[in-house]
Amino acid sequence: MELFAALGQGCVACASPVETQRAGLEGHLCHRCRQDLPPGLTRSARAVPFIDTLHSLGPYSGLLGSLVRSAKYEGKGYLLGELGAELALGAAAYDWPAIEGIVGVPTTGWRLLARGFDPVAHLVAPLPGVVHAPVLPALSRAHGPRQARRSHAERGANVLGVFRARRQVRGAWLLVDDVVTTGATVSACGLALREAGASAVHVLAVAG
Ligand SMILES: [Zn+2]
Repeated sequence: MELFAALGQGCVACASPVETQRAGLEGHLCHRCRQDLPPGLTRSARAVPFIDTLHSLGPYSGLLGSLVRSAKYEGKGYLLGELGAELALGAAAYDWPAIEGIVGVPTTGWRLLARGFDPVAHLVAPLPGVVHAPVLPALSRAHGPRQARRSHAERGANVLGVFRARRQVRGAWLLVDDVVTTGATVSACGLALREAGASAVHVLAVAG
């Protein structure tokens, strides 16, 4: 069903006609944009406090950022399932250390209500089968101002202390978010997990 909807609407990234039917994320993209899809995960060289490794499908500045924005803000939530499948494919090709649990960056309750869905939950769903660890709700989030309208410095201060561990944890954890920009959000989550007992925190994101 989604495939035919996509053909009717054209490419989700540039609105050009979608010439050929393909399954998955490719089915929503035109021939040209398909070529911008990343082949797999890239490990970021960025140092983020409290985070051991940071992997993403690619930079936010290109096609991936555009797809995430369409999914979250333009009513194309169905793209999140496709992005989650791409993320899982990438994660399946990576040699992860033993992971104790998978946790998505929690969204606020009111944002969940406003949007009607939790974007990160779609990204997390296919991961247990490839990372061989359960999804566990180990983090909670207090209400806070929206990140998207804040400056870098404000974001860093804004998220510190916003995340709390719901339980004591151990071992290495996989933390999942849709986008990592400044790294402040995942860093604050990493701190909360470490304070709760995690020995390592690895981050997986669509774009970052
Ligand atoms: Zn296109």
